[in-house]
Amino acid sequence: MLLDGDPRHRSNWTSYAMTNQTSEAPLLLEVADVSVVYGGAISVLDRVSVAVPHGSMVAILGANGAGKTTLLRAISGLLPYHGGRLTGQIKLNGVDISATNAASRVRSGMAQVMEGRRIFAELTVTENLRTGAFTRQDRSGVAESFDEVLELFPRLAERRTQVAGYMSGGEQQMLAIGRALMAKPKLLLLDEPSLGLAPLIVEQIFGIIKTVNEAGTTVVIVEQNASMALQNTEFGYVMENGRVTQHGNSRDLLNDPTVQAAYLGGESEHAPFRSLKSYRKPAEYIA
Ligand code: ATP
Repeated sequence: MLLDGDPRHRSNWTSYAMTNQTSEAPLLLEVADVSVVYGGAISVLDRVSVAVPHGSMVAILGANGAGKTTLLRAISGLLPYHGGRLTGQIKLNGVDISATNAASRVRSGMAQVMEGRRIFAELTVTENLRTGAFTRQDRSGVAESFDEVLELFPRLAERRTQVAGYMSGGEQQMLAIGRALMAKPKLLLLDEPSLGLAPLIVEQIFGIIKTVNEAGTTVVIVEQNASMALQNTEFGYVMENGRVTQHGNSRDLLNDPTVQAAYLGGESEHAPFRSLKSYRKPAEYIA
């Protein structure tokens, strides 16, 4: 039962009621009417609202340039590093964090794995993982997280003294996720974890993300692999040209003809989403 005043009652909210989402778990993350402009001129997000319940796994889908990465930057506080300005509100655990910086958001329990992995190529696996705990003071807790990450990723355990730059794409993605987990986040933000990886490795990575989620971490995942993302999440949001155009239970989205046609390679006049994903962003946008 939702109480009066619950943000999920707002008319402009991408609410559960509107989409038949059944979860009434309290929200860990609330993105309300967020718009983003880059360089004072380029409008990229237009009043985007996303609701992420505690313990859930939420997918953000959309074609190239739809604004998915920008949404993650807005959530993690990285927009200022890209010349972006936000209006609207971001709340974590009911607290407005819209004006806080990225480091403070990490301290409040967020960790982001950026597109393209961005591991420290010249550092070893162990050193990379240690950098993920930079905001933590609890030494024994950090040691515990380190052991947990190695248990979750036996491949990293085997290669803990190896220089990260020489590892395969899949191993580097595991390292990037492992490093984010070293912050012991409540909310894990993942930007296209399957990008450029073989199907078998993608399955392994999703399996691990599911395990992390089942252990209590809430996950928001931006994905080009719409089928994989919708099969593994509870809720999904579809973005087009900076707006949310569809949202609801992932199962319903998987069966939705529009989503199937545009993003799952169904029969359509539109090119299937996966075939669109060959474009690369201009170098100046790559952080
Ligand atoms: P992709 O799937 O290609 O990663 P996306 O959905 O994640 O795309 P964004 O990376 O958020 O989309 O980009 C949305 C739009 O914003 C694009 O038109 C992009 O060129 C533009 N953009 C991104 N970063 C900047 C920036 N720093 N300055 C100006 N425009 C930007």
